[in-house]
Amino acid sequence: MTGTALWALRPWTPRADDPPQCSDTLVVGGGLTGLIAALELQSRGASVTVLEAGQAGAGASGRAFGSLALGCTASPGALTKRYGPEQAVRIWRESSNAVHVCLQYLSEWGVRADLHRAGHVRVAVRRGQEDEIRAQFEQWRRLLPHEELSLATGDELAAEFPGAGFRLGLVDRASASLDPYRLLGELVTRFQDRGGRFVEHTPVTRITRAGDRFTVLHRRGRTAADKVLVATDGHTGDLLPWLGRRVYPVGSYMIATAPLPPGLRDAFSRRTVTTADVRKNYFRVTGEGRLVFGGRLDLAVDVPPARIEARLRRAMLSRFPALRDIGVTHAWGGRLGFTFDQVPHVGTRDGVHYAVGYCGRGLPMSVVLGRLMAHRALDEKTASAFGDGPFPARWYFRSTPWFVPLVAGAHRVRDLAHRRRGWERA
Ligand SMILES: Cc1cc2nc3c(=O)[nH]c(=O)nc-3n(C[C@H](O)[C@H](O)[C@H](O)COP(=O)(O)OP(=O)(O)OC[C@H]3O[C@@H](n4cnc5c(N)ncnc54)[C@H](O)[C@@H]3O)c2cc1C
Repeated sequence: MTGTALWALRPWTPRADDPPQCSDTLVVGGGLTGLIAALELQSRGASVTVLEAGQAGAGASGRAFGSLALGCTASPGALTKRYGPEQAVRIWRESSNAVHVCLQYLSEWGVRADLHRAGHVRVAVRRGQEDEIRAQFEQWRRLLPHEELSLATGDELAAEFPGAGFRLGLVDRASASLDPYRLLGELVTRFQDRGGRFVEHTPVTRITRAGDRFTVLHRRGRTAADKVLVATDGHTGDLLPWLGRRVYPVGSYMIATAPLPPGLRDAFSRRTVTTADVRKNYFRVTGEGRLVFGGRLDLAVDVPPARIEARLRRAMLSRFPALRDIGVTHAWGGRLGFTFDQVPHVGTRDGVHYAVGYCGRGLPMSVVLGRLMAHRALDEKTASAFGDGPFPARWYFRSTPWFVPLVAGAHRVRDLAHRRRGWERA
């Protein structure tokens, strides 16, 4: 965990619950996946306890950018190569549909969380990327409803954002944004009001099984449970070695500016934006008119706030020079869970249910997989592209993701090559 997230400007505190000696169901990890699963099980009459290692919102869910965007981290092409065309389409459609499922869920439960439905745009910021955006548009139109998608030219984008160099954009109107920390707060309150226990500062150290019963050891003792669900994503580590070998942590970071003066603020639309670089940046303007600007910073985890601020401010000003006199008030980041096939996975191993590995798309996906995991715990095996396939590991990864800097280096080289091609053709 690095820096304080902008969202914590409006803090909330859950009721202080103690861990029970036994609970029908125990959920490890109090992020969105854990909470959604807990609420689903609670609605079916189970007594549910959530054990959270840190403070509520300390994981990725309370620190995310807040974009609910269509699509999947793995491209349809990569998925087809790995899993064949049928499964690729299934994964891709289920990923995109997650946004609709999530919005439906939030509306049914009356969750507000500063939800804003302005859409998302993926923009070419170098000349060579325009072809890529056009190809992606054609590919997406084969998979998604046409009315949700369009291309925006550089002129149209210039009317939406005050920066230079936005050449072509793939707009999807179905996407939305929200305050993820507030969402988590609304869900925790609902869960506790209905009798659930949400126990902070209680890391689980071991899960053992004897017959149909589990004993969960944690910092404050032990709890017996009939069912255990693990929702630890990029923080999984060594808790369950089989799972920990399949999901590794990657860093993602953001800065937030002070509220922009009205003239500048009005120059930004409320869409979320992602650049088409391999080492992408993403940004959006919040309801109170701050620009939140993010990037992956070479995928490293736990980058200190001063470094986040220096690097992301430089990137932000190269895009929006008009912001040079605007202060940065927050710099923060967190860990997200990546898998080797860039696909999230839900399943059961040795009786323990898990849902992890959203690869940066966890806000909508955690709603879908959190519920799927709960259904599995209730022995209702709903078919899903995320639960039916293999969950790959790599021989070279046990507990230290030493290969991540190499992947970041490869990304850097690809971006440099793209930039050079763009300059040569410009
Ligand atoms: C900076 C950043 C920006 C992001 N932006 C977006 C975005 O805009 N859109 C999007 O879709 N996704 C985004 N993501 C990804 C998304 O936030 C995550 O995929 C999603 O929140 C994962 O939810 P989760 O509940 O599975 O995991 P988390 O929210 O990480 O929760 C896991 C929890 O488990 C707890 N835990 C771990 N080990 C233990 C243990 N042994 N015992 C007890 N508790 C434990 C952790 O403390 C943590 O709170 C972003 C992520 C980051 C870091």
